[in-house]
Parts: sequence; C-alpha cells; structure tokens
Amino acid sequence: MLRAMSGSATTTLPETMRASVYHSPGKLSVEERPVPTLEPGDALVAIAGCGICGTDIHLFRDGMAPRGTIGGHEWAGTIVAVGDAVREWRVGDLVVGGPPSGCGTCEYCRAARPFLCVSRPGMDGGFGGAFAEFLRIRAKQLFAVPDGLPLRAAALTEPLAVALHAITRSGVRAGESALVTGAGPLGLLLIAALRAMGVDDVLVSEPSPTRRERARAAGATAVCEPEALVVPRMPFDVAEKAVHAAFECSGAPAAMEAALALLRRAGTLVLVGTGGRPPAFDPHRILLNELVVTGAFNYDADGFPRALELLASGRLPLEALLEPADAPLEDLAQAIARLGTAEIASKVVIDPRLRGP
Ligand SMILES: [Zn+2]
Ligand SMILES: [Zn+2]
Repeated sequence: MLRAMSGSATTTLPETMRASVYHSPGKLSVEERPVPTLEPGDALVAIAGCGICGTDIHLFRDGMAPRGTIGGHEWAGTIVAVGDAVREWRVGDLVVGGPPSGCGTCEYCRAARPFLCVSRPGMDGGFGGAFAEFLRIRAKQLFAVPDGLPLRAAALTEPLAVALHAITRSGVRAGESALVTGAGPLGLLLIAALRAMGVDDVLVSEPSPTRRERARAAGATAVCEPEALVVPRMPFDVAEKAVHAAFECSGAPAAMEAALALLRRAGTLVLVGTGGRPPAFDPHRILLNELVVTGAFNYDADGFPRALELLASGRLPLEALLEPADAPLEDLAQAIARLGTAEIASKVVIDPRLRGP
C-alpha cells in the first residue's frame, strides 16, 4: 500500500488501478495497471472525469497511438497524494491539468508562445493518461477548479482553452460575425465562447441534424447544412452573408474551401479541425481580399485560467456542451466510434469510477 501524506491527513491508496489501454485501431481494453509512483515534484490525481477529444479519434480509431498507450488529456479530479517537494497543493484539492511549460529559451518561448516550443510534447499535450483511475502529473501543471464548478464541467477546461486560442488567432471582436463549420464537441465550445464574448452573429454549418440542433442550444444564431452555404463565383466577390472570421472544425476539405470563400474582405480563416485530405484554396481570393488563413494548435499562454473562469461564470450553456450521462472506461472505444460518425453531438466524459458491463 502507498501512503499519501498531507499535513495530518493520511490516505491509503491501492497498488493497482483500472485503465483503458490501446491495442490496435478501435480496440481498447480495461486492464489493471500499477498506480503511478511519485517523484518529489509530482501529484497523484484521482480522475473524476476525462473528456474524449477529437485527437483521441485519430489516436485510437485511426491507429496513430503507440500500442499500450493510455490516452485522455481533458481531465479533472481530486489530489490524493503529493510528492515531498510539493507545498502549494494538498490532498483533497480539486484540479485540472495543463501542459508542461516550454523550454523557456527557444525563439517561440521568448515570444510568449510556449506552445510552439521547439521541444513541445506530442499530440496528447504531455499531460495525457487520464482514461484511468489515477494520473501522475507534475504539480506545476495543475490549476485549481473554482468553487461550485462540477468536475465533469471542469473537464471541459482543455478543449475550451483550445477554442479560446482559436478565437485569439482569428482576431474577431464583440459585435462582429463568425462562421463555424462542423458542430462537434469543439465546434460547440467555439459557438458558446463566441457568444459569451459578444459575437452575436454566429452561423453554423453542419451535416448532422442532431449536431445542428445542439449548435442552436449552444448559441448559434443560424444553422444550415454545408450544401446551403452559398459561395460567390468570382474571387473578387464577397458573399451576402460574409463573416469577419471563420472557424473550420470539421477537417473536411469542402468545408475549408467554403469557409474561406465566405469571409469578408480582410477576414480570417482559422483551421481547427484536422482531416486526411488537403483543400484547394483559390489564391486569387486570398490575394484580392487580403484574407488571412491560419491555424490554431493549442492554447494561449493564459488559456487554462481563462477557460476555468468562463466555465465557472455561468455564461456558457453547459448542458448543451456535455452529453447528459458520463460513461465508464469500458465504453470508451464505442464512444470514440460514435463521436467519429457524429452519432454523438457533445462532449462525452469518461468517469473511471463507474463500472461498465
Ligand atoms: Zn483535447
Ligand atoms: Zn521553447
């Protein structure tokens, strides 16, 4: 048995934990794994909820993860043990995890963009492994969950930080207009965050009727099928309903092309979704209208605190952003498959404390 000391409180922890382990595309199984041991600067977190990310679809359905991986980086939980050198956190604190800081010396770190660091971690952000009962993390990477914010909603911190970063990249301001293509879990967070910051005109295109309905609940002011987006024929022409900023969340080349064609002059397209095939952008349209095409990979430097503050503010329709019931570890592969086919609209939270069939 491990002993977790914090002041006078002592908690007894098990030696093994249940974790969802990746084997091959679409195949994950729940197995017993050792509970991680701590270095002096680490904390051990009992996971209360871990959201399934779009990245997890590529990692575990499409087979981009190494075998034996335990995924899951959108987590919230309770500290159950801290290393000897940790002073700022105590057993019982409610926390979410963020990425490691950059190297501090490369040109990107010096330009206050640590998430472009030359030594940045891979696609799980370097704080993954939360599709399990316990997760070890460096205490420096923790953020406190504000009072009153349920942990399952706090699990939205990481993807909301991604959405806030995409908004920063777009430069869109209150009173302007936006287009979101693809209303999956991240698209929904973008819609809600845009509305919360005063972008009152948010058009959403999405092929799935379930997701279109959820987009409305998240705050979309107009929704349509992708085919209904009317793109101007000539590159100099601007569409009647052109927007200041477009956020492409589907990864579909046709959606990327339509989003670019629906920008106002000097508008910005932010690529957020990843797909297998590249789009065919019209360079004349970009040149004649001075459009900006950019990408959003992860977070603003203050992304996690801002996301937590926004989640706790009561200004987001959390019930539209989260699936109503959390799922056990045993349901992870199935939930990833159903998210990939758009059968599920909002964020699925895996709660490793639940027992599956
Ligand atoms: Zn994520
Ligand atoms: Zn760096």
